[in-house]
Amino acid sequence: MTKGESISEREFRMYNIDLKANKMETIAGVIKIKGEKFEFEKTKMSDLLADEVLIKIVAAGICSKEMAMVDQQIHNPDFSILWTHEGGGIVEKVGNNVKHLQQGDHVVLTFGSCGKCERCTQGHPAYCKVREQLNFSDSRHHGTHNHADLTTGKKFHQDGYSPSLLATHVIAHQNNTIKVPNDAPLEILGPLGFEVQNGAGAVINSLKVSRGKSIVISGADVTGLSAVLAAVACSAGTIAVVDADSERLNFAMELGATHTIDSWEQNVSEELKNIQPQGFDFGLDITGRSDIINSLLSSLKPLAEMGLLGVSTEPLEIDMNSFVSRGLILKEIVGGDSIPSEFLPQLVNMYLHGEFPFDKLITKYNLADINKAIKDCENGSSIKPVLLI
Ligand SMILES: [Zn+2]
Ligand SMILES: [Zn+2]
Repeated sequence: MTKGESISEREFRMYNIDLKANKMETIAGVIKIKGEKFEFEKTKMSDLLADEVLIKIVAAGICSKEMAMVDQQIHNPDFSILWTHEGGGIVEKVGNNVKHLQQGDHVVLTFGSCGKCERCTQGHPAYCKVREQLNFSDSRHHGTHNHADLTTGKKFHQDGYSPSLLATHVIAHQNNTIKVPNDAPLEILGPLGFEVQNGAGAVINSLKVSRGKSIVISGADVTGLSAVLAAVACSAGTIAVVDADSERLNFAMELGATHTIDSWEQNVSEELKNIQPQGFDFGLDITGRSDIINSLLSSLKPLAEMGLLGVSTEPLEIDMNSFVSRGLILKEIVGGDSIPSEFLPQLVNMYLHGEFPFDKLITKYNLADINKAIKDCENGSSIKPVLLI
């Protein structure tokens, strides 16, 4: 293959890294110019460090934050970048310090954490002291970049989390790499590491919803619907879902929601009071919208807990009248407040036992259809697109 020649999907899929020759060449999907589409080209990877793992990627999820990340790069004059951060694969090689993984292990990638700070050692790695540096620095833990242009040697940036996965092979830090049971279908497991974990973990690990409790969830995207599945798995009593998309609301009912409210057509506060006159035990917002958050707050029982997962550029304006004198707890939840090495295998086992059918959220795409997958993610026709690599 010479420079400029496009790489076919078959070539991509059949590609095997030549470990014996120690060439560390891989094929990666890159966007080099803002507004252009994905191209696939050979890149050169750096050598594996002692605490890193070389992974053959099997599938990569498209994250709803993906294109927002593209937009954030508008002002970056050096736009060469690698994409996607949700994915699963098979370990090909481990660095000398890696003890918990070996060649052939099935793994899912998740957020980075240092494993040493107070929050990491107390079981809250999602709130790691160096979270920003490890997850948003566009490089690997050690600050270097692990893919470079084969001909020019120019380094590729990562898309915001580490590592980026749209490649036949990637290098990941061992703390990002979670071993999962080998008997689960690896091609659908990638989203467990980010958006599914965010929703399911919020319900199971942070709010700790238990049998018979009531919860209202606003936002029926992949994270909100994962929260619905988790609430069903926890045997919650009332599970109400708020969204402006009636199709998504119907789908939430199929997944086990007991009530839905169309925020476009209905008065959310009034409907929530009708559904649960004594108030809800828990609230969870994915929308980041002040009006929706206030409606949920007004529908909670005294001493209830509400989680915030949404992001917004607008300031959050809380209606203090609905909030004060009721002892409500409002908390922002990151990464499902999970310990991924425990929680991701737990979710996989729940899936294998039919208790967490998150595969219903996933649409598989062939790699050649990557630009369609992104479009479908943006316009909402696919809840969670996954690219088969
Ligand atoms: Zn994401
Ligand atoms: Zn830490």
